[in-house]
Amino acid sequence: TTRPYIVGNWKMNGTRAMLSEARAIDRAAERLIKVEVAIAPPYTMIHATRKEATLISIGAQDCHPADGGAHTGDVSAAMVKDAGAGFTIVGHSERRADHGETNALVKQKAHAVIEAGMNVIVCVGETETERDAGKAHSVVSKQLKGSLPEGEGVADKVTVAYEPVWAIGTGRTPTAEDIAAMHEHIRSDLQTIYGEAGVDVRILYGGSVKPENAAELLSAKEVGGALVGGASLTAESFLGIIVAAT
Ligand code: 13P
Repeated sequence: TTRPYIVGNWKMNGTRAMLSEARAIDRAAERLIKVEVAIAPPYTMIHATRKEATLISIGAQDCHPADGGAHTGDVSAAMVKDAGAGFTIVGHSERRADHGETNALVKQKAHAVIEAGMNVIVCVGETETERDAGKAHSVVSKQLKGSLPEGEGVADKVTVAYEPVWAIGTGRTPTAEDIAAMHEHIRSDLQTIYGEAGVDVRILYGGSVKPENAAELLSAKEVGGALVGGASLTAESFLGIIVAAT
C-alpha cells in the first residue's frame, strides 16, 4: 500500500474520558480514506477504543515475548490481539531506556506479535550523543539487524519507525534532508535483511510531529507516514496531521 500510515502512540495517557477523542478521529477517518490511521492506546483502553472506533486500526504499545504464564503484570501478544489490537509497537526508545530492553528482546517480541497474527511496528533511533558523534546510521543499522523479526514472509507484517531519541517530546526535529538520508539508509538495510520484500516495508518518522511540520516531514523521501506521540492525544491536533498527510 502506498497510503501514508499515521499512527498515534498515546503512551501512558488515556482513561475512558479520552474515548470521545478516539471517536472523533474515527469519524473523520471515514472522510480521509487517503490515509491509513491507527491509534495505540494503553493496554487498559484497547478493548474500549476498538469498540468506539470501527474504521481506524487499534494497536498495543508493547507486549511480553512469551505466550502466557507466570509473568505478573505482563501482557502477551495473544492477549492484546484478543482485546482488539491489530498491531503492536515494539522497541520504543522509552521501553529501551525505562526497562533496559535489548535488541534481542525486541526481536523476540516482534516474533511473538507476528505469531499472534498481528502486524508489528519496530522502533529504532539514535540518541543525541550518538548523532553528534556521527554514529546515527551505524547505531540504527545495529538496531535493525538486532531487532527486526526474521524469516520467510515476515517482511509484509513489518513497519519500521525511525524515532531519533532527541526529537521525542522536545519540539526539535531533524531536517527533512536528514530524515530522507536516514530513511534511505534504513531502506537499504531492509533490502539487505529481507531482500526484494524489503522494498515495500513502510518506514515511519516519529519525534515532535505536529500539524505545523507534518507536511514537510512527510514529504521527505522514503517517509511512509508518522508515529505521533503528544500531538495524537487530541482529535484536533491528530486530525491536523492526518489532513497534512493527504
Ligand atoms: P512525540 O510526538 O510526543 O515527540 O513522541 C514521538 C513518539 O515517541 C511516538 O512514538
